[in-house]
Amino acid sequence: MRKIALLTSGGDAPGMNACIRAIVLTCLRYGIEVYGYRHGYNGLLDQEYLNLRAKNVLNIIQRGGTILRSARCLTFKSDDAAKIAAKNLDILGIDALMVIGGDGSFRGAKHLSNHWGGQVIGLPGTIDNDIYGTDATIGYYTAIETALSSIDKVRDTADAFERIFLIEVMGRHAGFIGLNAAIASAADQIMVPELQRSCEDELQNIINHIDAVKRRRGTSSYIVVITENLWPEGVTKLAETLTEKTQIECRPVILGHVQRGGSPVSQDRVLATKMGAFAVESAMAGETGVMITEVNQQVQCAPLEVSWSKQKELDPYLVKIQQDLFDLLKRP
Ligand code: ADP
Repeated sequence: MRKIALLTSGGDAPGMNACIRAIVLTCLRYGIEVYGYRHGYNGLLDQEYLNLRAKNVLNIIQRGGTILRSARCLTFKSDDAAKIAAKNLDILGIDALMVIGGDGSFRGAKHLSNHWGGQVIGLPGTIDNDIYGTDATIGYYTAIETALSSIDKVRDTADAFERIFLIEVMGRHAGFIGLNAAIASAADQIMVPELQRSCEDELQNIINHIDAVKRRRGTSSYIVVITENLWPEGVTKLAETLTEKTQIECRPVILGHVQRGGSPVSQDRVLATKMGAFAVESAMAGETGVMITEVNQQVQCAPLEVSWSKQKELDPYLVKIQQDLFDLLKRP
């Protein structure tokens, strides 16, 4: 193993820099040259790369985003693009390519491996945690923390004015951020894709619950955590409907891209470091077509296809707890 290249692709996530740092330093420790492609798969097609040395990764572990920049590259889905990428990697003499990103980026890595003889390894970097086969993904813990601190702040003002707040968090296909932030912030209600009912049922459910909570607690604030794109007409419209139906002022708060940013929390830095180092050692051991996972604190390799083979489930026990607490609040 002489040369390893890496890139960050798709949605960025806090901790990607920590992962880049771990890969670079582990390579240098084993005397492997390391190159970083910029702007995701675009850099691979345009030969936009730099030789990474220890000084490039100094003071980056605490920084959000990615020093290599990330991007989407729609043309990469074609066979021609994968062949160009393969040629460019061969020109540079790369033995293994590391791709830090979500399952879309992993599909890209698999696609490349159909046209390139080098080794390909994926590292799960996405705030949504929607990658099957690994307990957590790089960036997920920070996203929960960011959502949580915002919800805590909203609760202060919600309490002062006795309002309903709908707080929209990221995770259009997965409720991991929503469920965990809701539990940690003691939100009164969650709406996530995995637990979705018909809109009519969902609306009636919230209205009944707000009524019951009002009877039990008197006037008070009420917080709903909802994932993006869940309500067909949008969260602002849902807030208007709830205001009308309950006669209590309901405000939407859309957290949006703040959840992607920020300094990674320690769990993301540690996970990124562990996975980055293990990815290099796995490449040295000859692994290819795999992603790095962590299951019960053990880092391992799993075929890239595993990431999109099944939908990762929310922790059923956490869902039960949320449901039990929700039901408890309804009791007279
Ligand atoms: P994420 O990696 O965060 O899930 P995307 O789904 O946007 O993000 O995928 C990132 C990039 O991965 C895409 O812009 C494209 O370059 C590449 N990609 C995604 N799916 C495929 C595919 N089926 N074949 C080849 N490349 C793909």
